[in-house]
Amino acid sequence: MVNRMKIIMLGAPGAGKGTQAKMIADKYQIPHISTGDIFRANIKNGTELGKEAKTYMDKGELVPDELTVRILLDRVAQPDCEKGYVLDGFPRTIPQAEVLDQELTKRNEKIDYAINVEVPDENIVRRMSGRRACVSCGATYHLVHIPPKKEGLCDKCGTELILRDDDKEETVKNRLGVYHDQTQPLIEYYSNKGVLQSVDGTIDMMDVFKGITDILGE
Ligand code: ADP
Ligand code: AMP
Repeated sequence: MVNRMKIIMLGAPGAGKGTQAKMIADKYQIPHISTGDIFRANIKNGTELGKEAKTYMDKGELVPDELTVRILLDRVAQPDCEKGYVLDGFPRTIPQAEVLDQELTKRNEKIDYAINVEVPDENIVRRMSGRRACVSCGATYHLVHIPPKKEGLCDKCGTELILRDDDKEETVKNRLGVYHDQTQPLIEYYSNKGVLQSVDGTIDMMDVFKGITDILGE
């Protein structure tokens, strides 16, 4: 098994980045770092950071780079990240990617894989309206495709599942626009660095995962 892997998940909101990142983290025993989860935990705990992030998230906009980068760099400086990590939802802009690269270069490190989970826009709104999330442990489900064992309750911790505020149809449409404008250029950015790998995200989640482990190795 490859150690110290640094992986980035790319893809539209709702492409399945989080679903796959959690499986990658389990299999390769590396931390799963989701900036969205970090912001949601801060919102839940009522921190200043959470209050600021919420004003952007509720509209489907990106939280400013400065704030997001600071949070991410603090997180990857933690000791558990020495064995590598899988980033889910970061970077979302070219400046975020550049700052991450600069920090990694200082330490003689680099991103090993950028995995682009491809799902066309037509599928996304359907995916998001069916997504149910656990605010307690971060697990995600889908009403039709990946239902919880007990309706409305998280399999892992029993907490009641919610429809995220930013998964309402109008906000999802805005988030898709933001994705195409600001995040999609990262596909070319990582392709130019020779680390981009794309997988079809429309198939069953276990088949998507098989495609990813074929890339990462056993
Ligand atoms: P992202 O992290 O990219 O925003 P998620 O991993 O939260 O996306 O997935 C979005 C929704 O789609 C969730 O409800 C999830 O359960 C569902 N989902 C994820 N992968 C698949 C798949 N391969 N097929 C069908 N539904 C999926
Ligand atoms: P996610 O859980 O990844 O879908 O993120 C939910 C929301 O959090 C996004 O729509 C943004 O408002 C915010 N967010 C998460 N990650 C980032 C990031 N890297 N840059 C800016 N905003 C982010």
